[in-house]
Amino acid sequence: MLQILKKHFGYDSFRPLQEEIIRHLLARRDALVLMPTGGGKSICYQLPALMCGGTAIVVSPLISLMKDQVESLQANGIATGALNSSNDETSNAILRRQCTEGKIKLLYISPERLLAEIPYLLKEMDISFFAIDEAHCISQWGHDFRPEYTQLGTLRDLFPQIPIIALTATADKITREDIVRQLRLQQPRIFLSSFDRPNLSLTVKRGYTAQEKHRTILDFIRRRPDESGIIYCMSRSKTESVAQMLQRQGIRAAIYHAGLSPEQRDRAQDDFINDRVQVVCATIAFGMGIDKSNVRWVIHYNLPKSIESFYQEIGRAGRDGLPSDTLLFYSLADLILLTKFAQESGQQAINEEKLRRMQQYAEADICRRRILLSYFGEQRTCDCGNCDVCKNPPERFDGTVIVQKALSAIVRAEQQIASGVTIDILRGNYTPEVNEKQYHRLKTFGAGRDIPARDWHDYLLQMLHLGYFEIAYNEGNHLKLTPIGAEVLYGRATASLVVIHREEKSTATRGRKKKEKGVAIQKPLVNLPGVESESLFQALRELRKRLADEEVLPAYIILSDKVLHQLAAVRPTTVEAFGNISGIGEYKKKKYGKSFVELIRRFTSEE
Ligand code: ADP
Ligand code: ZN
Repeated sequence: MLQILKKHFGYDSFRPLQEEIIRHLLARRDALVLMPTGGGKSICYQLPALMCGGTAIVVSPLISLMKDQVESLQANGIATGALNSSNDETSNAILRRQCTEGKIKLLYISPERLLAEIPYLLKEMDISFFAIDEAHCISQWGHDFRPEYTQLGTLRDLFPQIPIIALTATADKITREDIVRQLRLQQPRIFLSSFDRPNLSLTVKRGYTAQEKHRTILDFIRRRPDESGIIYCMSRSKTESVAQMLQRQGIRAAIYHAGLSPEQRDRAQDDFINDRVQVVCATIAFGMGIDKSNVRWVIHYNLPKSIESFYQEIGRAGRDGLPSDTLLFYSLADLILLTKFAQESGQQAINEEKLRRMQQYAEADICRRRILLSYFGEQRTCDCGNCDVCKNPPERFDGTVIVQKALSAIVRAEQQIASGVTIDILRGNYTPEVNEKQYHRLKTFGAGRDIPARDWHDYLLQMLHLGYFEIAYNEGNHLKLTPIGAEVLYGRATASLVVIHREEKSTATRGRKKKEKGVAIQKPLVNLPGVESESLFQALRELRKRLADEEVLPAYIILSDKVLHQLAAVRPTTVEAFGNISGIGEYKKKKYGKSFVELIRRFTSEE
């Protein structure tokens, strides 16, 4: 098995669970595999497909997903095809013949096509096993329910002897049980791997204004030149305004949301996969079809509505296992809007609870990864060291006076004001509402002038989380004092707040610091024998891009970023040594070895 792994995929060892899953499938037994995105699910059925006689049938929900998988298998020289409506009739006919002749090791197919082919193509094929990818699509509890999937239960009845392996990255228990029941898996073994993604850094920025978000995003992207990333926004119009802001700054950005035509969406996705744009500004509609392994970062412009969605979305970064960064902006306005959505949804209690958990994550002052993993039922005893809380543990100070000022403004305005006006009163701003309601006569008017508005935003969020006031969502989002808030206001209790750290200091120190940080981000987590050369990496990347364009394939299909980093460090100067790099199989060694080795030789002799 290890030999086949090295020969076809170029890897030297299995990841946790892969070998057990493969052995189980080769013993012709059913299985359900739960692994996070990027965990390495594909190998679990691709490798046994190579070891079995006949053809493995892989059910996949989206054409774009099939395309990516087929391309990367073919790039490894493995006989693979996808039967779908986007092929022309001739190529589908050729593929059908290859299938019946047993020349294809893996056949990708959509569920509806599969069902239609049961009396035809499937009858004439020698099927090794069925792999049901994205199996959570079968469950209404999941977030990607696809009615076509529910018919797949008939497979077990029609093909009682052929094993079924179902795979998903969605962990929750109801979905899991639903998959087993609906696919009628026979005494399946359930392989549940850790959902931790240690290569994803986690950072939250709280209470930023739109302008500050934009500045932070620009700075973030400039520190990662040419690194692909996704910016998730709550609304369609936001995706457009953020993309325009980036384009004005010369950053290649595309838009993706459900309001665009299918052609426009396909183009955006294709441009992203092929590195013609660096950034996609998208709603949650984007991502399911994205297997691009070198998405290096994900930003949430707005708070997501649940931890499931959040984890799914950040999971699109760093599938290749290299360090990748995630950044979440959290504001009171988002929280208010999402609460309203949850209240208006059919399942108010559940959705409010999900939002509350998301809010707790964003407000956390303990390791954020521990919160995420505990949400998925994995308890950790150690902090991760790769989240902002671990890196900069929050510092606290006695914020009693600050809290008293805010609460007093609220009470004096008879609890009839929302957060914006509260800040106007504290800052002493003469706005139309202040004039109309005569708030400038209040004793607290201007009492918080010494604190900038953006810090007030942050402090108000902290006070909300500490339970000093509540928001009356059904009453114009007015702020209402709570009993424990009253304790602080009337001096019977003290309040401790977290010190706010803002990045932007003087511009002089800024340039240098950022640059150092940028380099650190590029460094891979893996232990490399040599020291990686950044300029060699760039040269390798250019060569890869040239080869990709020639073959009309995405660059990461040719070689992954991880492979390029290793090449830049190990600098193999023979084709044999090139083939020893993890991730390079026989086929790629023969196909690309010469070009890359020549480049590395030239580079090392010039150095
Ligand atoms: P998933 O389908 O679970 O999201 P993939 O199957 O796409 O994940 O695998 C994620 C990445 O990990 C791919 O780049 C894949 O080639 C790589 N990978 C899988 N198995 C191994 C392994 N045993 N050793 C090294 N890399 C692996
Ligand atoms: Zn942490």
